[in-house]
Amino acid sequence: SEDALRKTEKLVATGRLAASIAHEINNPLEAVTNLLYLIRLQDSLSVDTLRYVELAQHEVARVSEITQQTLRFYRQSTLPVTAKVSELMDSVLTLHQGRVNSLQVEVRRFYEPEVDLFCFAGEVRQLFANLIGNALDAMMPGPGQLVLSVRRSRSWRDSDIEGVRVSVMDTGCGMTDEVRGRIFEPFFTTKEATGTGLGLWVSAEIVRKHHGTVRIRSRASVDGQSNGDFRSGTVFMLFFPLVRGEEVPEESLQANSQSV
Ligand code: ADP
Repeated sequence: SEDALRKTEKLVATGRLAASIAHEINNPLEAVTNLLYLIRLQDSLSVDTLRYVELAQHEVARVSEITQQTLRFYRQSTLPVTAKVSELMDSVLTLHQGRVNSLQVEVRRFYEPEVDLFCFAGEVRQLFANLIGNALDAMMPGPGQLVLSVRRSRSWRDSDIEGVRVSVMDTGCGMTDEVRGRIFEPFFTTKEATGTGLGLWVSAEIVRKHHGTVRIRSRASVDGQSNGDFRSGTVFMLFFPLVRGEEVPEESLQANSQSV
């Protein structure tokens, strides 16, 4: 609808603004990070001062993570390539292997062989990283199950459109309808101390840029905690239409080469 479109445009504009602010913040932030590091190296610091410096470092790192995450999407990236979707997924899984082990998460992968996608591979990897990261967060303190699937499929909206379907399913705490309605808003997070609320906002942009669609099903657990089985949990389903190299929409190439 026109309303939804206006809302999307507003969010994109907000995103651009956020990205340029993030860019401006980044340099002074680097300076503060370096200065705090130098202060910490002094051996004349009292225990209290050291603690304050450490807290400041911790908070600065948080700001830095927010600006980096905002910039990553808008930063100039490489040209699209043909990538194996399961390989993108597995490279992300390797990154998260430490947490998978410590949370005692059982991973099951259902990959149809040889599923290729012409895409901005770095961004799709980032998208998968956001979804898997969120799934692991939702399954804390573990154990749990993570089910990943990649297969060729037709669009659920238009059966004439061929593409790739990817799903990431977890047995985590799930989401209430209220949370579910807000997850794509920038800075919306339920992770007070650790969240930035930018992961899914950026993810939605990446999906949009690939002309993809997202569907979500989630069931919240009664007590808001993860219970390790499928009584609660979330599944993110993505669909990417196939495009050949010469068909990459001009618009997405331009959006991609815009630097901040
Ligand atoms: P962040 O992870 O920093 O909070 P996101 O934009 O990635 O930011 O996610 C926003 C919110 O969406 C999360 O704080 C969480 O409440 C909810 N969410 C996202 N993925 C899941 C999931 N797999 N299970 C439960 N809740 C989720």
